[in-house]
Amino acid sequence: MSILNFANQFVCDLVAYEPGKPIEETARELGLDPDAIVKLASNENPLGPAPAAIEAMRNEASEVHIYPDGGGYKLRTALAEKHGVGIENVVLGNGSNEIIELLCHSFLNPEAELIAAEHAFVVYKLMATLFGAKYVEVADPDFIHDVDGMADAITENTRLVFIANPNNPTGTLVGQEALDRFMDRLPDHVVAVFDEAYYEFLEDAPDTLKYVREGKNVCVLRTFSKAYGLAGLRIGYGIASPQVASVLQKARQPFNANSMAQAAALAGMNDKQHVAKTLETNNAGLAFYEKAFAERGLEYVPSVANFVLVKVGDGDALFQAMLEKGVIVRAMRGYKLPDWVRISVGTQEENERCIEVLDQVMGG
Ligand SMILES: *Cc1c(COP(=O)(O)O)cnc(C)c1O
Repeated sequence: MSILNFANQFVCDLVAYEPGKPIEETARELGLDPDAIVKLASNENPLGPAPAAIEAMRNEASEVHIYPDGGGYKLRTALAEKHGVGIENVVLGNGSNEIIELLCHSFLNPEAELIAAEHAFVVYKLMATLFGAKYVEVADPDFIHDVDGMADAITENTRLVFIANPNNPTGTLVGQEALDRFMDRLPDHVVAVFDEAYYEFLEDAPDTLKYVREGKNVCVLRTFSKAYGLAGLRIGYGIASPQVASVLQKARQPFNANSMAQAAALAGMNDKQHVAKTLETNNAGLAFYEKAFAERGLEYVPSVANFVLVKVGDGDALFQAMLEKGVIVRAMRGYKLPDWVRISVGTQEENERCIEVLDQVMGG
């Protein structure tokens, strides 16, 4: 008998998360020059890390024989100050993905339910499955979260409701009024999670930290992976009401946020110039793609983030054909969107290359 018969069935049943295809792997498999490959598949910052963060990492490098500050005092203090909350509200994570896991660890079990939107970030479903909980999907007409429908779906077994705002892969945002209406209906036995990985890209961002300050059962997720360009370090955070934060702190490993990551995040969060340049590049890139898609008669979902979802016919085939020409995009079959691909906004040069290859591939 196989050892797998003794593993938890709900873990064996998991379909593992499929990340954007790495540049090195693509180069190896297709015999391409890695420097010539354009990766627009994981919503990374095309300008790289903030210069201040690189400098901080250099300084930290000679100290990595010492364990990190497990309490993350400096970074949590700085984040608390920046967001107008207390240090007790801030939980660091090995990427904000870890905070998602800590929330599930803390609140899910085989009787519990997690609610998310039909085309929500796929990690919520993976995590619900990993903890044997019931995953409840609410339809999102026009790819916009229906938060009223999500409130309707709450039962006595619901513990977590995830609202990705803006959502990945759709790039759509739910506004303040709808969120306020949702929060007014949130019962005491449910935690509302606002996943705001793309917050920095928003011009008119809804305020969800006010719910934390009001002491509601809320966790707001932010990350250094996107606008701050530190995806490889794995550093993100949750801002939660003190009770929610206290249980998340118990669920994490003692040194989950490493010392390089803490140092880089602390320096990067104050590099306003880098973030401003990132937003400028992104806004120009989004406009470029939307114009290019419109000119080609391709349906797309208007995005407020750093990526855009576009309908291309057979998404897997387009992904493969573009890959062979050195441009990596993301096929969306895993999101039940087999006709679509998601393209991350790159530098102007990368965006132009992407459309050039898209034309070559779709034209013939
Ligand atoms: C990219 C992304 C994250 C960030 O993940 P990290 O673990 O912080 O790198 C979280 N949520 C969504 C919806 C994302 O797209």
